[in-house]
Amino acid sequence: MTAKIIDGVAIARQVRVGIAARAAMLKSHDVLPALTMIVVGDNRASAIYVRNKVRACGEVGIKSDVIRLTADETEESLLSRIRLLNEDPGVHGILVQLPLPPHISVRRVLGTIAMSKDVDGFHLYNVGGLVIGETVFPPCTPYGVHKILEHEGIDLEGKNVTVVGMSNIVGKPLALMLMQREATVAICHAKTRDLAQYTILADILVVAAGQPKLIVAPMVRTGAIVIDVGINFLPGGKLTGDVDFEGVRRKASRITPVPGGVGPMTVTMLLENTVAAAERATGFRPAAESLFPV
Ligand code: NAP
Repeated sequence: MTAKIIDGVAIARQVRVGIAARAAMLKSHDVLPALTMIVVGDNRASAIYVRNKVRACGEVGIKSDVIRLTADETEESLLSRIRLLNEDPGVHGILVQLPLPPHISVRRVLGTIAMSKDVDGFHLYNVGGLVIGETVFPPCTPYGVHKILEHEGIDLEGKNVTVVGMSNIVGKPLALMLMQREATVAICHAKTRDLAQYTILADILVVAAGQPKLIVAPMVRTGAIVIDVGINFLPGGKLTGDVDFEGVRRKASRITPVPGGVGPMTVTMLLENTVAAAERATGFRPAAESLFPV
């Protein structure tokens, strides 16, 4: 068996066409969807991520602003800036790029962003809402994985899903989303004993551990769908995921590549959340809705 390669770039392009149409509709009603990003310090990876987000916003008709602050910004000053943005009707989404300098509490910062503008989906309300399927903004990477599965027409009901990685931004929220769709979900982490006994059971295997080649072919069920969230840079700079792509593609039925799989969907779901925020703020969309109905 050779797996079909899931083209995340093509799916992202298609989803973005719909987002651009919604942004254009809002503009025709004099609403310009707007995202403000805050970057503190000069982390190189953050600079690249933010540049990509600015470009993506421009492509679909979302106005983006970047507030760049020096690493000695105080927590109080940052919180005050966020509170001002919370009150600004011209700003629909607020994103604070992580990581933050160690003297600033990530939890306090994320908790200060208004729930209605929390387009990264990291506010406790949005995280907690995932438990009952009523999150306003799902976090972008798991939302992107969910969208890929939906786009591929994969029915999740009753499927065995194994999620490798249980971070607050990827593994845990994704597991909750998939459970909401009535999949049977196993969550594995670094302390899981005999990882393969869980991965081999998976009809759908999602890997978000940040460990190159963590998953090799003998750990994968024949015909499984494999979604690789990992982003790792090998010595020499080559980008790779968490899955041994060449080995696993001979056993899986579908697989996402790295790059070109989940990555483009993460930014796309940020655009989706920002347009949804503008739609809700201006009454074009209900404020409360179930995003993952069973
Ligand atoms: P993280 O916070 O470091 O979490 C990694 C998770 O993987 C942890 O739960 C950890 O277990 C688990 N893990 C580590 N080694 C393992 C092993 N050998 N076996 C089983 N589980 C293991 O990372 P993250 O933020 O979730 O990101 C995960 C990966 O996805 C990274 O490569 C990151 O760059 C990538 N990522 C990609 C996107 C995208 O857009 N494509 C977005 C976000 C993240 P413990 O909890 O026990 O330590």
